[in-house]
Amino acid sequence: MPIATVNPATGETLKTFDALGAEEIERRLALARTAFEQHRTTEFGLRAELMNRAADLLEQDQQDIARTMTTEMGKPIVAARAEAAKCAKAMRWYAGHAEELLADEHPSAADIKDAGASRASVHYRPLGVVLAVMPWNFPLWQVVRFAAPALMAGNVGLLKHASNVPQTALYLEDLFRRAGFPEGCFQTLLVGSGAVESILRDPRVAAATLTGSEPAGRSVAAVAGDEVKKTVLELGGSDPFVVMPSADIGRAARTAVTARVQNNGQSCIAAKRFIVHTDVYDAFCERFAEGMRQLSVGDPMQESTDVGPLASEQGRTDLEELVDDAVRLGATARCGGQRPEKLDRGWYYEPTVLTGITTGMRIHHEEAFGPVATVYLVGDLDEAVSVANDSPFGLSSNVWTRDDGEVRRFVRDLEAGGVFFNGMTASHPALPFGGVKRSGYGRELSGHGIREFCNVTTVWHG
Ligand code: NAP
Repeated sequence: MPIATVNPATGETLKTFDALGAEEIERRLALARTAFEQHRTTEFGLRAELMNRAADLLEQDQQDIARTMTTEMGKPIVAARAEAAKCAKAMRWYAGHAEELLADEHPSAADIKDAGASRASVHYRPLGVVLAVMPWNFPLWQVVRFAAPALMAGNVGLLKHASNVPQTALYLEDLFRRAGFPEGCFQTLLVGSGAVESILRDPRVAAATLTGSEPAGRSVAAVAGDEVKKTVLELGGSDPFVVMPSADIGRAARTAVTARVQNNGQSCIAAKRFIVHTDVYDAFCERFAEGMRQLSVGDPMQESTDVGPLASEQGRTDLEELVDDAVRLGATARCGGQRPEKLDRGWYYEPTVLTGITTGMRIHHEEAFGPVATVYLVGDLDEAVSVANDSPFGLSSNVWTRDDGEVRRFVRDLEAGGVFFNGMTASHPALPFGGVKRSGYGRELSGHGIREFCNVTTVWHG
């Protein structure tokens, strides 16, 4: 894949970049290692000062970086500005909480008596240089939710961003440098995915985090496994959105629209499979399809646009193939199901609702990365759980119910890293984020996220 900014709203190539050569990669690896030796010894207070400054700068740059993101990957400009604001908040949250999240622990004297210790403690020390392989869909947020905790813990970062967001990637390096982080603490490596293996095998790299597709995750985890290096994987999702009879159907249907089309439908935690109880099926489907039909699809730079283009031509082709396969095998498109007629340039696709899904259709098992929803009819709670869990993925889940007994069952039985009731899944710095099954492993955000790249060190005194 060339490293380039290609506007998905027009298909025009606006800027291309040369990949870094071997010598420059070597220079940057050496710089990262040197930077770590210094950064790991700094006080939390100093790190927090720099992180808060990065948040201030990001807020000042909000308009410009939002336009860059929209130009590079097509998200609506309003959402791009919101993403920049969310990143600044997360930076401040980790600046304010890292010291407390990584505070030394002191097991009680009674608990350690058998260990023969007069006293003992547990310390969270940084691991070192962490390689972050990141996707284009939230080009700032995915990086910041790694970088803010990593830098606050005393690690340093090397970013290999997706090849279609090079300007956002370079902005991030510049942001942390302008905030005052010493040279080498956070570097962007403009390289293709083929360069990842040798960088990850380099002894100066301690660990890796990857957010992206399952094949990319498998490949990076295999290399890291071979090198015995820690990884966190945040991969795809096909989150269920269950609607039970006690739900507020109007609110559920409105939220369903937002949950499905956020980021032009290209979000790992977008609700993708809508699993609806038979008592409320018709009412929900009607409102949901109507809401999807009403969305404004078009130029993502316009304030009024709800849904912009898909980020790449290949992404649209993949989505079209999933829909065409389902329709060929008997699914019904309640709305959409094709490219919008009025938009002849750019990689647009109409918001689509498919009913009549069966297990033989590809879309039943695969992730639809675009504004396409599948709806399932279920007779009771057991069937809802069974359909929800009938997926290789297990990122998050959404359930609409006002019945406490049902709440307990869903929390107990859904195979996912999150269960969001009467609302849609969203990430927040204070709450852990991550999945099970083919959605990956490890957690980002909260105390769980910051400790992923720490050496949990036992200190024992005889
Ligand atoms: P992708 O094709 O897997 O790319 C993600 C990153 O991995 C890019 O930097 C890419 O580089 C790199 N990459 C691809 N193949 C690789 C390989 N074999 N070895 C090393 N690196 C490799 O994914 P995407 O299309 O950008 O993003 C969409 C996917 O990400 C969806 O499945 C989505 O659900 C998932 N996602 C998950 C989360 C989560 O938190 N769980 C969040 C967002 C997105 P190049 O661009 O140079 O190919």
